[in-house]
Amino acid sequence: MTKYILTSLICFTALIGYSQDKIKVVSSASIFQDMAKNIGGDKIISESIVPIGGDPHTYTPKPSDVELVSNADLILINGLTFEGWITELIENSGTKAKVVLITEGVEPITSQKYHNASDPHAWMDASNGVKYVYNISAGLAAVDPENALFYADNGAKYNSEIKNAHNYIKKQIATIPVEQRVLITSHDAFQYYGRAYDITLNAIMGISTESEAQSKDVKRVVNAIKTSKIPAVFIESTINPKMLQQIARDTGVKIGGELYADSIGDKDSEAPTYIKMLTHNTDVIVNALTGSSIESTKIDHDDTSNNTWIYIALGAVMILSLLLILFKMNK
Ligand SMILES: [Zn+2]
Repeated sequence: MTKYILTSLICFTALIGYSQDKIKVVSSASIFQDMAKNIGGDKIISESIVPIGGDPHTYTPKPSDVELVSNADLILINGLTFEGWITELIENSGTKAKVVLITEGVEPITSQKYHNASDPHAWMDASNGVKYVYNISAGLAAVDPENALFYADNGAKYNSEIKNAHNYIKKQIATIPVEQRVLITSHDAFQYYGRAYDITLNAIMGISTESEAQSKDVKRVVNAIKTSKIPAVFIESTINPKMLQQIARDTGVKIGGELYADSIGDKDSEAPTYIKMLTHNTDVIVNALTGSSIESTKIDHDDTSNNTWIYIALGAVMILSLLLILFKMNK
C-alpha cells in the first residue's frame, strides 16, 4: 500500500514539475493558439480564451479567464479592434505576463464601412500568417531565452508550410472564372484574403459581428448576387446562417459551404488547424464557384443519354407490336 502511495506521490510531483517547467501561453483566439502550439511544441502549454467555435468579436470573459490570464507567461493578442474586451481582462487579472501584439509589421486594411477602424482579419492572408509566426517566435524567445533557437527553428519550419499553403491558395483561386470570382459571406472577414488572392468580396455584416445587419445591407448583397453570375454564397462557422440562407432562397443561389474565419474547427472537423482552415476554405470556395458549370454539363449529358434509352425502348415496342400484328394476320 505504502508503495502505491509513494509511486502516486512521485508521479504527482513529476507532473507538477513537468507543467511548471512549461511556458504558459494564452492566446485571445483559437487560430493563434494553434500557431503558438506549432512554434512552442512541448516546451509550452498553449491555451485560448475564446473556445473553438466562439465569436471573438462579441466574447464576454468568464471568471476562469481572469485566472487563465493571471497565470500566463505570455499573452498573444491580434489587436486591430479584434478582441476589444481583452485590455480590461488583462488589467483586472493583474498578470505579469508579457503581452505581444502579433500583427506587428502587418499592413492593415481600413474598414470600408467604419473609416477610423482597421480590419482585424489579417491572418486570412497566409503571407501575414508568416509575420504572426515571427512575432510569436520572438515573444517566446523573450520569455524563454534558453530555448530561443528551438522556437526560431520550429517557426521557420512552420512558416515554410504556411508559404506552401499561400501558393496553393493563389493557384486554386485563379482557376475560378473572373466573372464568378465573387465571395459573399456573413461578415466582412475576407478582405485580406481577397486582396492577397484576387477575389472580390461582399458581406452582409461589417468587419465586426457586434452590430446587426440593416435592411440596406441585405439589399446591397441581393443586388450583388443578381448583377453578378455567382452560383453560391457562404455561411461561417461562428455566425448564425439564417439571414444568408434566406438571401440564398430569395435569389435562387446555393449555399456553397461553411467557411472558417474567426475560429479554427474542432479536431474532427475539416479545419482543425490554421493552415487547414485556409486551404479548406479555399477548396470550398473553388468547388462552389466553379461547380455550377460542371454540374449543368453533367445534367445535360445525363438528359441526352436518358433520351437515347427512351428512343431505343420505344423502337423495340413498335417492332414487337408489328411482329405481333404480322403473326396474327398469318394465322
Ligand atoms: Zn471576424
